[in-house]
Amino acid sequence: MELRIRNLSKTYANGVVALDKVSLTIPKGMFGLLGPNGAGKSTLMRTLATLQECDSGSVFLDDIDVLDEKDAVRRLLGYLPQDFGLYPKVTAHEMLDHFAMLKGLSHKGRRREVVDGLLQQTNLFEVRNQRLGGFSGGMRQRFGIAQALLGDPQLIIVDEPTAGLDPQERVRFHNLLSDLGQDKTVLLSTHIVSDVADLCANMAIINKGNVLLCGEPQKLIDAL
Ligand code: ADP
Ligand code: ADP
Repeated sequence: MELRIRNLSKTYANGVVALDKVSLTIPKGMFGLLGPNGAGKSTLMRTLATLQECDSGSVFLDDIDVLDEKDAVRRLLGYLPQDFGLYPKVTAHEMLDHFAMLKGLSHKGRRREVVDGLLQQTNLFEVRNQRLGGFSGGMRQRFGIAQALLGDPQLIIVDEPTAGLDPQERVRFHNLLSDLGQDKTVLLSTHIVSDVADLCANMAIINKGNVLLCGEPQKLIDAL
């Protein structure tokens, strides 16, 4: 699906302009949103994930009005926020099974199939019976993706996922996202240049709520 953002603006109550007429077109595949801390990335991600209101502008996911048709967007969306909590005492399998039930997968056998599939896809099948409290940072992030993928979303939004991961885990996480980008729209926010350069077909650079550049990573890097 294609996400079209036009003139999106947000000023917080304290006067901080987090988004200043942001316009971006995000096609199917991997798209990287690169910017320093405070650039407005999380504000944009939360808005696209229908979790926060903006002051003005429009966002369309194909022909769905994202700012208006929130339920429709939520059915198509998988969102991994920057900081998410996990219940430490339940296992990966128990937790996913529970969320799958909440998603309406009431048939036990079918649920098992979906949950096991997601655990395999995120390389967590071997540790499915371990408690989430013992998971490493990389395992937590991959579990977050598994959770976000329940319901087979077409748009996946991931906010600063690789901060704090060791190099091996980053590669693993990148491979997982690349696979998703084959047939879905994946929006990744990061302040790490190599995340977008290695991974994304398209990217934008954002700072102080403004889109500075947008295009293919290699072309933008060559032009610097
Ligand atoms: P990051 O830069 O890592 O995305 P921030 O520090 O901007 O994170 O924000 C972390 C959380 O604190 C967010 O949920 C945001 O809404 C909130 N926050 C950030 N800055 C302010 C602020 N000036 N006043 C109130 N809440 C803020
Ligand atoms: P990023 O994710 O790129 O770090 P954010 O969207 O978190 O950027 O923040 C953009 C700007 O808005 C920052 O200056 C931040 O401090 C401010 N901000 C974020 N959330 C809030 C909030 N809830 N209230 C006030 N200011 C905020």
